[in-house]
Amino acid sequence: MNGRYDAIVVGSGHNGLIAATYLAKAGKRVLVLERRDVIGGATVTEETWPGYRLSTCSYVCNLLLPEVIRDLDLKRHSYDVRPLDPQYFVPFPDGKHMISYLDSAMTKEQLRKFSEKDIAAYDAYWAMWDRIIARMRPLLDLPEPTQAEIERAFDGPAGEEDWHTLTKKSIAEVLDEYFESEQIKATLCVGGVIGTNAGPRTPGTAYVKYHHILGKIGGHQGAWGYVRGGMGTVSQAIASSAREAGAEILTNAEVAEVEIRNGAATGVNLLDGRSFDAGVVLSNADPQRTYLGMVGEKHLPDDLVEGVKRMRAEGSVVKVLLALGELPDFTALPGKEIGPQHTGGIVINPSVDALQEAWEECERGEPSRRPFIDGYIQSATEDGLAPPGKHTLSLFCQYAPYTLSGGTWEERRDEIGANIVETFAQYAPNLPNAIEHIEVLGPRDIEARIGITGGNIFHGEILPEKMFDGRPVPGYSGYRTPVENLYLCGAGAWPGGAVFGAPGRNCAFEVLADRY
Ligand SMILES: Cc1cc2nc3c(=O)[nH]c(=O)nc-3n(C[C@H](O)[C@H](O)[C@H](O)COP(=O)(O)OP(=O)(O)OC[C@H]3O[C@@H](n4cnc5c(N)ncnc54)[C@H](O)[C@@H]3O)c2cc1C
Repeated sequence: MNGRYDAIVVGSGHNGLIAATYLAKAGKRVLVLERRDVIGGATVTEETWPGYRLSTCSYVCNLLLPEVIRDLDLKRHSYDVRPLDPQYFVPFPDGKHMISYLDSAMTKEQLRKFSEKDIAAYDAYWAMWDRIIARMRPLLDLPEPTQAEIERAFDGPAGEEDWHTLTKKSIAEVLDEYFESEQIKATLCVGGVIGTNAGPRTPGTAYVKYHHILGKIGGHQGAWGYVRGGMGTVSQAIASSAREAGAEILTNAEVAEVEIRNGAATGVNLLDGRSFDAGVVLSNADPQRTYLGMVGEKHLPDDLVEGVKRMRAEGSVVKVLLALGELPDFTALPGKEIGPQHTGGIVINPSVDALQEAWEECERGEPSRRPFIDGYIQSATEDGLAPPGKHTLSLFCQYAPYTLSGGTWEERRDEIGANIVETFAQYAPNLPNAIEHIEVLGPRDIEARIGITGGNIFHGEILPEKMFDGRPVPGYSGYRTPVENLYLCGAGAWPGGAVFGAPGRNCAFEVLADRY
């Protein structure tokens, strides 16, 4: 581990590992440096308590590019994803429930409980998304889509209308156009706010919804899947492919600064005093951490520094990890034996209005009194993640602000976690007594653990004004930076966050095109 590298990648998130693998496969000498003692960033499985293995941050997969899976031969490296079926179970306060299956005929039978009219609307709604996804697909491979490329993609019948829907409408507005049932709208609106500082009535949240259905699992557009062994398997599979191609990966190696000489990156200096030289440096860290932390304002144009400081980086997601002695017993679909209410996602959101209210509380600096919850019990679908007879439960919740209007996270973390448990328990009253362990991760905990500034799960909002040539900052989009030989390869770059791989892949191609 000495001498000069062709490329150093700062951070072993899945994007950094993907970029490293493409470069190593192209014959380059590559070193990945990770500050934590585990690789994967937010794509990680951890043994949170003895015998309980949880996907601590990201928990399900939809977007990981088929090109990445193919090029890196990830299946041979143990990547195994299965679509959830059912996709989700949604209990409502009146005791009714809805289940969405991979089979749309079965899902429509569920919709019938709420509205006959909405059954026909369901196909039209998906046809609209299929059209938008097909238009957007070619743009995902570009470093930063230009206006001309966007116009070409949205050319033809309904093009203008699709662009307007994607970039201007709120998810609530879109759903109002198609559906009459409040329960159906409540179920479908949550994808429009995931990881986002916005409510379902915020313009642009249609884009967030699109982002959450743009992938396919097992041929099912928009379906989400469990990765066997948890999300850490994604990172481990990529790392295995990277090592096979010759890349070196070093953990406990926090980069303090990018070494810059005559305006060009020449390597990195670590917090522990070690230094490594390289022809190019790729940063998988978020834009703030990269530019303001590792590069430094003095090496950057003023407007970039201003733009990065203005980026809204503070997240409002809380992740609650639980070890359970028994499965949740839902009032709307009783049973403590494994059933369809346990094997897909469990969505707790009574209405569009409730989600909007939850957001408005967060905007005022308060944790939502009745947060939206996206729950998953992966142990109900796979052995080895919990001791026999026990289960894991992962709750992804919104919202709780990074900066609370009253008190600190240290003071209020337990209360915020208890409120989330109580919200879930309104639908599954046995939950509190089933809990054997609990860990609550607010935005500040995600920041400290994963190293994402503000704990924003996407390294910056994925609302439309922050996408395309506005990502991460207008005037400085794409993967190249104003510092020669320094590139961004993480979720903060186009086409954005999630376990996706597009920024890492595109960045590697740009480096190879620029230099080799
Ligand atoms: C709680 C949570 C839940 C989520 N749920 C989902 C989900 O279910 N599905 C989904 O698709 N997406 C989900 N996401 C989003 C997704 O996980 C992220 O957008 C994605 O993993 C980002 O990947 P990345 O490789 O760009 O960066 P990261 O995963 O953030 O990795 C960056 C890496 O850089 C390292 N690093 C930072 N600074 C330094 C330094 N100075 N020196 C060395 N190393 C450094 C960090 O330690 C980290 O390992 C979730 C995210 C969170 C936080």
